Amino acid sequence: MKDRKLLMIPGPIEFTPEVLRAMGMATTSHVAPNFIEAFGQALERLRDVFLAPDGQPFVVAGSGSLAMDMAAANLVEPGDRALVVNTGYFGDRFAAILHRYGAQVSQVSAPAVGDAPALEEVEAALDDGDYKLMTITHVDTSTAVAADVKSVAALGRDRGVLVVVDGVCSVAGLEMHQDDWGIDLALTASQKAIGVPPGLALVVAGPRALDAYYRREAPVGNYYADWSQWLPVMEAYEARRPSYYGTPPVNLIWALNVSLGQILDEGMATRFARHSRVGRAVRAAVEALGLRQVPVSARLAASTLTAPYYPDGVDASFLKYVNEEGAILAGGLHPAIRARYFRIGHMGAITSSDVLSTIGAVERGLARADYGFDLGAGLAAAQAVLAADG
Ligand code: PMP
Repeated sequence: MKDRKLLMIPGPIEFTPEVLRAMGMATTSHVAPNFIEAFGQALERLRDVFLAPDGQPFVVAGSGSLAMDMAAANLVEPGDRALVVNTGYFGDRFAAILHRYGAQVSQVSAPAVGDAPALEEVEAALDDGDYKLMTITHVDTSTAVAADVKSVAALGRDRGVLVVVDGVCSVAGLEMHQDDWGIDLALTASQKAIGVPPGLALVVAGPRALDAYYRREAPVGNYYADWSQWLPVMEAYEARRPSYYGTPPVNLIWALNVSLGQILDEGMATRFARHSRVGRAVRAAVEALGLRQVPVSARLAASTLTAPYYPDGVDASFLKYVNEEGAILAGGLHPAIRARYFRIGHMGAITSSDVLSTIGAVERGLARADYGFDLGAGLAAAQAVLAADG
């Protein structure tokens, strides 16, 4: 029997065989021609994936939190005002990071866990203060709430506020058009919908963000994240010249280039539609099983992960059953409800069969937890969505 389990958490995710092969290739020097070419191509491809033709990509060893750190370190000067549009745990994290670099941070928070602030509230907050930048978490992985980035970003852009989007749980999964939507900086990490093992912080800075960085008077308060170190490195590799500041993670960057190629071969519109379909299938299954979800309305539910509450009488030990049935799911993260819900990640190269295998494992896990439901109801609901949309 195969002992391979599906990794269905909101990052790291299931990776394609081609990506994993790149991870296992014999490592070359970071100034070897094959690496220079792959790095240069990956930088070019990032612009296409972020839909940011004028953006400057940064690829640096680190996790998504480093990408957040890099955004704050380079854009914030002590005393600047920053507004965090908060939909959960990762909004709190951005606020803490901005504060660390001396920003005066204000927040517009969701009225309840699983909700998002109303546009009017964001608008009122923006009109109330002289903000240099605002942050939006596209999908807060702690609540599975997807912010209306397009509308919120437009409010910031109209007022000349730099718009920073934490797209760690969205980029290359959920629709995001960095340039068209007026996003000045978008960031993600490799292990989510980008489809590469953990270890890369990915940032794309638009012209206004770079301009704000060039005009800063205070030195960047973080040595490793300082763009003055990384910008020449990114420019050099894109011009197919080697450069050095910190040793690049050679295999991860090869894997990134492979994955970005696969993403662009699929096509961004097709990829967004596939994630949307998978998201609808998983949510339909969860609903058919009688499980409530953390997002307070379907309109707010992200397509990259689903966050169901445990039904009455079921607790986190259910996750162990699901694991034994072949799918690895994640527990709760938001401190207010941590023990009451779980998370199913469904981003990247996921197929319809992966969805059905996962829902099947969830159903067998619920049965083992003695939850009363119609066996097969979740599968039928998921299948109906997947079959209807092709
Ligand atoms: N932002 C969001 C929305 C995330 O989901 C995560 C990771 N779960 C992060 C930031 C932080 O990324 P990392 O764990 O790679 O540091």
